[in-house]
Amino acid sequence: MTQRFKDKVVVITGGTDGIGLTTAKSFAAEGAHVYVTGRRQERLDEALEEIGNGAVGVQGDVSDLSDIDRLFAAVERDHGRVDVVFANAGISESAPIGAIEEDHFDRVFSINVKGMVFTVQKALPLMSAGGAVVLTGSGAGAKGFANLSIYSATKAAIRSFARTWTTDLKSRGIRVNVVSPGMVLTPAMQTYLRDNAGAEEWMQQTIPFGRLARTEEIAKAVLFLASEESSFVGGEELYVDGGFVAV
Ligand code: NAD
Repeated sequence: MTQRFKDKVVVITGGTDGIGLTTAKSFAAEGAHVYVTGRRQERLDEALEEIGNGAVGVQGDVSDLSDIDRLFAAVERDHGRVDVVFANAGISESAPIGAIEEDHFDRVFSINVKGMVFTVQKALPLMSAGGAVVLTGSGAGAKGFANLSIYSATKAAIRSFARTWTTDLKSRGIRVNVVSPGMVLTPAMQTYLRDNAGAEEWMQQTIPFGRLARTEEIAKAVLFLASEESSFVGGEELYVDGGFVAV
């Protein structure tokens, strides 16, 4: 195991489950001081045990700006800086266009876009040259998915933010990139597949590599974009989707 993030301060939103949790474990295993957020304190406590290396949890909702302030206040108090931000918290909801309710729209945009924007904004005063921002996008931002228009639009927006912020931050030496998974075998996805007969077969046939991603495969891409190995990569969207968007 390499120690690419030894003593680096890494902040991860939505780090208590799925992709965020596995990524938090990977950063911690490579020596990082990891800060994770999650909405439920009980789940946060369990996740910290799993992450190890003294990871710190700050309970909160990314759609509430005062919670984001508390997160970075804790990081500033402990370390006075942030080296990597992985803005990953996100939710997915589906509905056909005619059935999209206002609260569906508000909830998904509020967490996936507003939460991500202010997480990055509030991290920046603590970041310096060499810092890295990684955002979680989705193949859905680039490809049509039935009944997923609101979620897909939030993920297309994330790609756009990465490009604009690459320009905005060029004088500060902070890189911004996106990791976009296709379909990932998270615990939530496993429950979905169990409850929806035929869904797994459909996904296996739709994904060129013939299977869903493992969360570790997404984490590897995040660590690459957060590390010195990607020092000349900026404003990029890396699909980790078994070829799903490409075909
Ligand atoms: P998950 O549901 O397993 O985990 C989501 C995490 O985000 C949890 O830790 C949860 O507590 C947190 N979270 C959700 N809403 C939050 C909020 N308002 N404030 C703070 N934390 C919040 O999800 P996942 O599948 O690991 O998804 C992580 C990211 O990956 C999301 O942005 C999602 O859109 C994206 N993604 C997932 C897939 C997939 O197949 N699982 C595919 C493409 C993109």
